[in-house]
Amino acid sequence: MGTDTAYFRIERLIKSGAECFICALEDEIERKYFDVYLSELVMDSRAREKIVESRGFCNHHFYKMLTIAAKPESADGHGVALIAKGIIEELIQDLQRYTKNFKVFHQTTSCPACAHLASFMEIYNRKILELLSSRNAEFLKLFINSKGLCFPHFVERAN
Ligand SMILES: [Zn+2]
Ligand SMILES: [Zn+2]
Repeated sequence: MGTDTAYFRIERLIKSGAECFICALEDEIERKYFDVYLSELVMDSRAREKIVESRGFCNHHFYKMLTIAAKPESADGHGVALIAKGIIEELIQDLQRYTKNFKVFHQTTSCPACAHLASFMEIYNRKILELLSSRNAEFLKLFINSKGLCFPHFVERAN
C-alpha cells in the first residue's frame, strides 16, 4: 500500500466528521474484511476449515460478522451457519478430549480478523505518528479542526 493511499484514507475519514478517525478507520477495515470474507470465503470449505481450526473469531469480531451478515442485502446466512456448526462441533470434541485427558481446554487463540486488523493498523499507526510529528501544515490544520480522538486512542497515542 502506498503511503499516499494511507494519507488519503486518513484525510477522508477526518473530513467525514468522525468522532475519532482511528475508530472510523478500524471499523472500515473490519467491515471490508467481513464483506470480502462473507462474499468469497464463507462457502469455501478450506477457508471454513481454517476458521474452525482457530475456533472462530474473538467475541468482538464474531458479533461484528453476525451484524454484517444479518443485513437484508446479505445472503450469507447459510455460510455463517456452517461456520458456527463447524466451530461448535470442534468445541464439543475439545470438551470431550478435555474431560478424558484433563488437558487444557483449547480456546480461541488467534482471531483471523484481529490479525488482519493488526497488520493494517501497523501501517496506519506508523503513518499517523509520522503525520502528527511532522510539520505537514495541511495535515495539522485538518487534525486541529477535527473532533480529535476517542479517549482510548488518545491515551494510546500519548504513550
Ligand atoms: Zn477511537
Ligand atoms: Zn478479533
